[in-house]
This record gives sequence, structure tokens and C-alpha cells, in this order.
Amino acid sequence: AKDRGKHRTARFSPELDQVAAEDAGLGADLRRAVDAGELHMVYQPIVELPAGRTVAVEALVRWRHPLRGAVPPSVFIPVAERTGLIVPLGAWILRTACEQAVRLPAPLTVSVNVSARQLREPDFIASVRRILDETGVDVARLSVEVTETAVFDDELALASVRALRAMGLRIALDDFGTGHSSLGLLRICPVDVLKVDKSFVDEICADGPPAVITTALLQIARGLRLDAVAEGVETPDQAERLHALGYRYAQGYLFSRPLPAADLERLVADPVTV
Ligand code: C2E
Ligand code: CA
Ligand code: CA
Ligand code: CA
Repeated sequence: AKDRGKHRTARFSPELDQVAAEDAGLGADLRRAVDAGELHMVYQPIVELPAGRTVAVEALVRWRHPLRGAVPPSVFIPVAERTGLIVPLGAWILRTACEQAVRLPAPLTVSVNVSARQLREPDFIASVRRILDETGVDVARLSVEVTETAVFDDELALASVRALRAMGLRIALDDFGTGHSSLGLLRICPVDVLKVDKSFVDEICADGPPAVITTALLQIARGLRLDAVAEGVETPDQAERLHALGYRYAQGYLFSRPLPAADLERLVADPVTV
């Protein structure tokens, strides 16, 4: 039955077949990339408005492919998810981010993206425990970012998020307001932080639906006693508007691009001022 399925894909859906072939090619490269040292992490500051003091950093993975050059995570993370490679890759990401968190001065925290596939993996929580033990990181210095889509209607993923929360990690709902949004999720999924998606922040200075939604999301966060972080802030006008609305935390190129680990200490010493 499996073979017939494959055959059908090839006959009726060449574009799907091409996706599979590309996944296989990139996937094979990705498999060796960790061992070959082609991956590294960068860290983007999350700042407090209006002064721009860094309170946390988000860990973001980078891949420098020997032939293709920089492959963006928006390309290879989906491949890693489809092929299952996200499981070992995600473990490497978490370990590297934890090692970095140990070196950062308190109270700076590190926020790590975790994909849907990782959350559904039966060994995920055991693997997180092992990494926390081995790196000796204080869980209070660690957040995980999960998307609404990852936990929406998925009991396995929800159970993992609850277990992470029970271990003392903070939970951030990433890209909030996009994807399979359901405010009902906030009743069943433990959450500490709402990350309001860049698509809303982009239009915060115009008087349209995005500005209304950005305002409403802050009210929800406040009512539920959650922190709200505005993502993708690029202009001083956006930062001012967000601050005026009552947003306390922001992230975006205006404050800093994602930085290599070596640049983090300097950043803590000299906060970015807007
Ligand atoms: P995300 O989790 O929403 O991460 C934020 C993305 O927005 C990052 O892109 C960041 O560099 C970018 N960004 C931040 N500020 C600005 C801004 O002011 N303007 C613009 N135009 N972009 C901004 P990046 O690093 O390319 O990552 C893209 C996505 O790939 C991430 O979206 C996340 O979904 C995924 N990703 C990245 N690193 C990891 C990882 O370590 N693990 C997992 N599972 N996913 C990751
Ligand atoms: Ca994120
Ligand atoms: Ca995001
Ligand atoms: Ca995003």
C-alpha cells in the first residue's frame, strides 16, 4: 500500500514529489551539518520599552552550507520537521542555548524555539531533562517558544508543554494572533508570555484592524497576567506607539539583529537606547 501511495504521488502530484526530493537532498546535508560544525546559534535581544534594556535573548539557529551558503531557518526547519531531523537538531539547539544561558549574567534569560514535531516526540521531556542536568542551567533562566498551531488540538503536544511548565520553564506562545488561533487555547495551555506577531506590529502606526488587534492582545495578556512581547519592531515610531499602548517588551531590528554569542556580553554592558 505504501508503494502504491508513492506511485500515486509521482503521477498526480509532481510538485509534491519535488518537495520530497528536495527534502531528501537538503535533509541528507542537514544530517551531517551538526557534526560538521556548519550550524551555529545567534541570539536576538528582547528589550524593555522605552529604554531598550535587554531582559532576554531569543536563540535562533543558523546554517552555513559549504556550497549553498547561508540557508535560512524558514527553509531548513520545515525540512527538518518533515524528515524528523528536528529531533536531534532540536536537542543540539536546546543544549547549545542552555550552555549559553549558563554563561549569561542573571537575570538575562534565553528563549528557545521548540517545534510541533519535538513536542509530539515521546522522548522529548526525558531529553530536555537530560540536557538541563548535563548543562546545569537554572530553569528559571529558560523559556520555550511554541506556536499556537503546534499545540492546537494536539493532546500530546499540550502534555509536553504542561510538563515543561511543571519543570519550571516559562512558556511563550509565538507568532500569537496568526495560525490556528483560538483564544480558548489560553484556558488549556499553560502560558507565561504572548509574542505578538510581526504582521500586527508592521501596521501598528495605521488605524486599521492590526492596530486594533495589537491593542486587544495586550488587554488579554494583562487580564491573564501574562507578559506581552511585540515582535519585529523596525522603526522608532512603532516602538513609541507600542510603548504608548502599554507594551513593556519588544524585539526587532530597531533594537538589535540576532547576534553571535561572542557579542552578547558587550550588549549587556551597553544597553541599546532608542
Ligand atoms: P520566529 O521564531 O518568529 O523568529 C523571529 C524571526 O524574525 C527570526 O527570523 C528573526 O531574525 C526575525 N526578526 C526579528 N526581528 C525582526 C525585524 O525587526 N524584522 C524582520 N524582518 N525580521 C525580524 P529567523 O531567525 O530567520 O527565523 C525564522 C523562523 O525559523 C523563526 O521564526 C522560527 O519559526 C524558525 N526558527 C529559527 N530558529 C529556530 C530554532 O532554533 N528552532 C526552531 N524550532 N525553529 C527556529
Ligand atoms: Ca520564536
Ligand atoms: Ca515569532
Ligand atoms: Ca515567525
